[in-house]
Amino acid sequence: MAKDRAKAEVSLEHLFRVFTKPENDDSTLAKIEKHLSDNLSDFLSQHVVAKKTSLEEIEKDFSNAAIPVAPEFVSSHAETLLDKLVAQSVNTYAPTFIGHMTSALPYFHLPLSKLLVGLNQNLVKIETSKAFTPLERQTLGMMHNLIYAQDEAFYEKYLHSARHSLGAFCSGGTIANITALWVARNKILGPDKDFRGVGNAGLVNAYRHYNINNIGIMASRRGHYSLGKTIDVLGIGRENMLSLPSPNQVLEPKDALRVGREYQDDGNKMLAIVGIAGTTETGHVDPLDELADVANELGCWFHVDAAWGGATLFSDVYRDKLKGIEKADSVTIDAHKQMYVPMGAGMTIFKDPAHSNAVRHHAQYILREGSKDLGATTLEGSRNGMAMMLYSSLHIFGKGGYQLLIDRSIQLAHRFAELINSHPDFELVTEPTLSILTYRLRPATLSALSTMHSQKQIELNKKLDSLTVSVQKQQREAGKSFVSRTRIEVNQYGSVPITVFRVVLANPLTTEKDLLAILDEQLSIVAKHSIWQSFAELPESKIA
Ligand SMILES: *Cc1c(COP(=O)(O)O)cnc(C)c1O
Repeated sequence: MAKDRAKAEVSLEHLFRVFTKPENDDSTLAKIEKHLSDNLSDFLSQHVVAKKTSLEEIEKDFSNAAIPVAPEFVSSHAETLLDKLVAQSVNTYAPTFIGHMTSALPYFHLPLSKLLVGLNQNLVKIETSKAFTPLERQTLGMMHNLIYAQDEAFYEKYLHSARHSLGAFCSGGTIANITALWVARNKILGPDKDFRGVGNAGLVNAYRHYNINNIGIMASRRGHYSLGKTIDVLGIGRENMLSLPSPNQVLEPKDALRVGREYQDDGNKMLAIVGIAGTTETGHVDPLDELADVANELGCWFHVDAAWGGATLFSDVYRDKLKGIEKADSVTIDAHKQMYVPMGAGMTIFKDPAHSNAVRHHAQYILREGSKDLGATTLEGSRNGMAMMLYSSLHIFGKGGYQLLIDRSIQLAHRFAELINSHPDFELVTEPTLSILTYRLRPATLSALSTMHSQKQIELNKKLDSLTVSVQKQQREAGKSFVSRTRIEVNQYGSVPITVFRVVLANPLTTEKDLLAILDEQLSIVAKHSIWQSFAELPESKIA
């Protein structure tokens, strides 16, 4: 690659060309486009090199803070991107990359995303989005229907009502959780007699008016870190995040009730219980039905964070696992996780179409009163037409298609759990409820570890922790496959957290053969490790 790129001239004529003219067929950018649309996975396997390059090394390519003065030709810039960026990206389509919640996308999203960018609609107001606004409202209605299944008259009444909205589309689960709990805060500390509500009067006046010290949000320790951000931006203070220990990976209703009561007896008010439908780390589902009753008893909001697991509702086989979700006041779902929509597609869905009015804002030049502008009740301002990608996916897959994908992922997770269980040198740490599981390498010689005397157990677990970290890093760096890792408390080992491999079976292209290859690779990495060798017995060389 040439160091000094050919510079284009600084002229309006050149810029006008850049704005309006496509690249020649033989230009780099045109070639990239063609390759992408002909065969995406071939493009990725050719251009994303699985080379070991340290982050420090890569940073050197991105170390110049000076803005270039002269324009660069598009094609020459595209070459830089291929070389410095694409080559050092992650091939999320690889079927052996089973550590992330976002993976391969269906093909149609490529041309659709071009259409989306081409139209460049802004959903903040109808003036700049026209048909996209009704489309987004319909899409939110479909997702509402998936959770709450109201009758036709309900949707006819509310789908396009200027004074209601069935949800808020946003960039992801984090913003969705913030939006839901923002609404909850404004409802719980709402207008009352001469008090104009927390949204107008602020928290200090709200606490004074309601005669409370604090408001709190409760979730299990497996709650997503976005809840911490939420409680921070809402001004409630992180100390009021009641994170309950969860050795069984779920929020126990009787603990929730007890802690909630104690908190309220101390002069505080519970703002919300957050039930999780598919925890990020282990994929567990809280007992939503019972937690809804606890929230009811405490007089607080019930939010369900189904960012990852919400799509399970498409499956007639597994949707029962989310029983009680229909009792939630609000639900977060990420379409960019198990619904295979490109990133930037999250939602909060409201049970009551009037809920979102608690955060309604107006402005004179847009979002006028009585308008159907979606921006009046969303946290974000300018927003693209991402809802189109979800709208199209819902039609192109249909409920039946999504059910197949969800069922396949969960069944493959169960198969993977069997493979792990069948090998004496692996330990399945958490069973898959949905399609996430955790496990680790633990030599057969330590199969009685969970029953050992606690000091000995802690000591051995520490060794295994560093082994897990080391194997995970080496596997990642080798670049053929990827599993993630996390630290969790599990019942078998008391309150001391252990480090585990975390697997998310999301990519429909992943096969049982890929999973066997991943386990084999881990066995061959660990066999060379001195800690492992110190456990006396080498692992069996091949799995199953
Ligand atoms: C992924 C996830 C989030 C956050 O969603 P983003 O789209 O990453 O902002 C929140 N909660 C849960 C349970 C998640 O899995």
